[in-house]
Amino acid sequence: MSRIFNFSAGPAMLPAEVLQQAKDEMLDWHGSGMSVMEMSHRGKDFLSIAEAAEADLRQLLAIPDNYKVLFLQGGASAQFSLIPMNLLGGKPGLIDFVNTGAWSKKAIQAAKNYADVHVVASSEDDNFNSIPAQDSWQRSDKAAYLHLTANETIGGVEFHTTPDSDVPLVADMSSNILSRPVDVSRFGLIYAGAQKNIGPAGLTLVIIRDDLIGEAHPATPDVFRYSVMADTDSMSNTPPTYGWYLAGLVFKWLLAQGGLDAMEARNVRKAGKLYDAIDSSDFYANPVAKDARSRMNVPFTLADGALDKEFLAGAAEAGLTSLKGHRSVGGMRASIYNAMPEEGVDALIAYMRDFEQRRG
Ligand SMILES: *Cc1c(COP(=O)(O)O)cnc(C)c1O
Repeated sequence: MSRIFNFSAGPAMLPAEVLQQAKDEMLDWHGSGMSVMEMSHRGKDFLSIAEAAEADLRQLLAIPDNYKVLFLQGGASAQFSLIPMNLLGGKPGLIDFVNTGAWSKKAIQAAKNYADVHVVASSEDDNFNSIPAQDSWQRSDKAAYLHLTANETIGGVEFHTTPDSDVPLVADMSSNILSRPVDVSRFGLIYAGAQKNIGPAGLTLVIIRDDLIGEAHPATPDVFRYSVMADTDSMSNTPPTYGWYLAGLVFKWLLAQGGLDAMEARNVRKAGKLYDAIDSSDFYANPVAKDARSRMNVPFTLADGALDKEFLAGAAEAGLTSLKGHRSVGGMRASIYNAMPEEGVDALIAYMRDFEQRRG
């Protein structure tokens, strides 16, 4: 078996130890004689898997007792609509947004179907290469909540501090959840699709302060109604059982690594050396303001874009794949989530240096 270093933005690498364990347990989970995929979601075996996953997630993020954790489907994209549907209850309302890039824009666009939208600040004039200074934000007085994208996966821009907010703060953490400790109590709602830093695609986490769970828009399906899903432990219908199980294995792996303090230290080191390699070269460049650079997604360009193809082909030959930047940005993007080993980043840097020497 030879594993490559996969820099895909998502679905992304999972820890090899987790995949190995899933393989070992594939046909016979803990003597049950069944795969987790074949289990009733209402049976005691799966319930023990589901409960352990939630307990481990709560431990990792120190989630306070007055927050519910929902294991949903539909991806983060569904939440762009479901959050306004659930939090505004179908009544007219206003939502504040910070616009820091492509994912913020999608969230804003979807919310317009349910509410009035006010953009408190945008970095669009700066080509989304920074986070607007918080003292410049033009907040409305009567917003139902303030939404931000904690990490812009495409632009490579990340919030490194949590803004103060008088209204509940709602954060899309799809691409940086579990990469660092977070004070959950500062947020009203945190959501994330699983396929970047949690597990396989198909599972979506919503962590919500329980007083925000109220009446949803009347047209909200039960499986997307936070009140129903909270009351049924996310089992109003069949949940994505295998994704839930794998997420649980990832949570156990994270605890074994030393939890989120240890992951943050590792992520700071991994991202730091990659940005240093880019900044110390005249051949590679990253346009993002230093205080807003993402630890998870590192976009970079080559001095000569005509060499992009050759760079990518050579990288793939060296076992470094999926480095092509998003089609809207071009260039390269290295996504270095929790499961990307430090050796993967080292191998990328070595390849970049070598390529620059040969072709720069
Ligand atoms: C990937 C991503 C999404 C979309 O996730 P889906 O699960 O594909 O709907 C939304 N927001 C951010 C920040 C992302 O990285």
